[in-house]
Amino acid sequence: MIDIQAIRKDFPILNQKTYNHQIVYFDNAATSQKPQIVIDTTNEYYLKYNSNIHRGVHYLSEKMTEAYENARKTVKSFINAKFQHEIIFTSGTTESINLVAFTFGEKYIFENDEIIISQNEHHSNIVPWQMVCERKGAKIKVLPLQYNGELDLNAYKKLFNDKTKIVAVNHASNSLGTINNIETIIKIAHEHNVPVLIDGAQGIQHQIVDVQQLDCDFYTFSGHKIYGPTGTGVLYGKEKWLNEMPPYKGGGDMIKTVTFEKTTYNDLPLKYEAGTANFVGAIGLSAAIKYVEIIGMKNIIEYEEMLFKYLKEKISKVPEIRIYGTATNKICLISFLLGKIHHFDTGMMLDKMDIAVRTGNHCNQPTMQFYGIEGTVRASLTYYNTIEEIDYFIDSLIKVKQLFG
Ligand code: PMP
Repeated sequence: MIDIQAIRKDFPILNQKTYNHQIVYFDNAATSQKPQIVIDTTNEYYLKYNSNIHRGVHYLSEKMTEAYENARKTVKSFINAKFQHEIIFTSGTTESINLVAFTFGEKYIFENDEIIISQNEHHSNIVPWQMVCERKGAKIKVLPLQYNGELDLNAYKKLFNDKTKIVAVNHASNSLGTINNIETIIKIAHEHNVPVLIDGAQGIQHQIVDVQQLDCDFYTFSGHKIYGPTGTGVLYGKEKWLNEMPPYKGGGDMIKTVTFEKTTYNDLPLKYEAGTANFVGAIGLSAAIKYVEIIGMKNIIEYEEMLFKYLKEKISKVPEIRIYGTATNKICLISFLLGKIHHFDTGMMLDKMDIAVRTGNHCNQPTMQFYGIEGTVRASLTYYNTIEEIDYFIDSLIKVKQLFG
C-alpha cells in the first residue's frame, strides 16, 4: 500500500501555495514533479564529482563514468532489456523517436514504402515519420481511432502489405488517456515481420514495462515524466536493429577511429551517444527510477486505479461535462470540456483556484480534428495526488460552471 503522506513529503513543491490554497498539481502528463532524492542526487554529482565521462583517467571522471553506466544498468533492469547496451540515453522521447525515424528510415525505408502510425499520436510520433516520408518518398498509413478513444484493431490488421516497414504507436495517449493494447499491436505487426516502436512517454510511469515480454523493437520515454530531470530520456532498441541502423549524430564518443579518409563507429550504446551526454541528468533519472521501484509499480498502479475510479465517478456528475476518451483501460487522465466554456477559460479559472491543469490540443491536433474540437482541459494525476485534491477539483469545476452561467 502507498503511504501517501510520506510520499507527499518527498515532493517539496507540492507543499506550497500558489495563490491561496495548497497547489493541486494535475498536470503530470506534461511533466511530473521531482522527489527530493532526485534533486539531492543531481546536486551531489555536481557538487562532488563533476567531470566529463568516458574520456578521463582521473578519479572524478571515473566516478562519474561509473555512475552514468550504473544509471544505464538501472534503466535496463527497470524495463527488463536483455542487454545494457540496448539502452541509449537521449534528451527525451522526441529525440528517441527522431533517432529511430531517421536511422531506421535511412536504412530500410524507400520510395512507396509505408509506415503505420495511429490517429491518436503526439506530434512527436507523427512529424519525424512525415520527415522520413518526405526524404524517401514513403507514405503514412493511419490506424484509425474509435470515438471512445480506443484504436480500431480490426482496421489495423488490414493496413499491412509488403510495403509496410514499421509501426509506431503510443503506449498510453496523452490526450485521451487510453492505454493501448500494445501486446496485440506488436503481435499483429510481427506476424507480418514488421517491427514496432512504442512511444512510452505516458506509459512508463503508469504501467509495468517489460520490453522482452512485450517483444517491442523500440521503446522510448522521457525522464521528466517519470519524476526525473528534464533533458533526459531513453531509447530502448533490440540489439539487432541498433547494430544494423546507421549512427544518428556524428561527434565525440560515437567513434572508434577517425582519419580524413574514413571513420569507424563505436559499439553500442555509444554509437548513438555523440558528444557530451547529459550524464548528471541520467544519474538523476536513475535516482527517480529507484524511487519508483521502492514504492513499487504494482502499488502505484493500484493506487492510481483507485484515484481514477473516484475521479471518473465524481466528474461524471458535474453538469454539462463532456469527456473525451472513455476507453475501458486508461491511465488516470481525463480530457473534458465544460458546457460552452472555452477550455482556456476553464483552465485559467482553475489556476486562480490553485489547480494546475493543461488546456489546448496537447500536441495531438489530428485527435482534436477527429472530435471536431480545438482542444480540451486535461487533468492528469499520478501517485502523489489524493482523493481530497479530487474533491477540491470537482468543487472548483462546479464553481467555474456557475461563474460562467
Ligand atoms: N509522446 C507522448 C505520448 C507525450 O505525451 C509526449 C510529451 N507530452 C511526447 C511524446 C514528447 O515528449 P518530450 O517532449 O518529453 O520529448
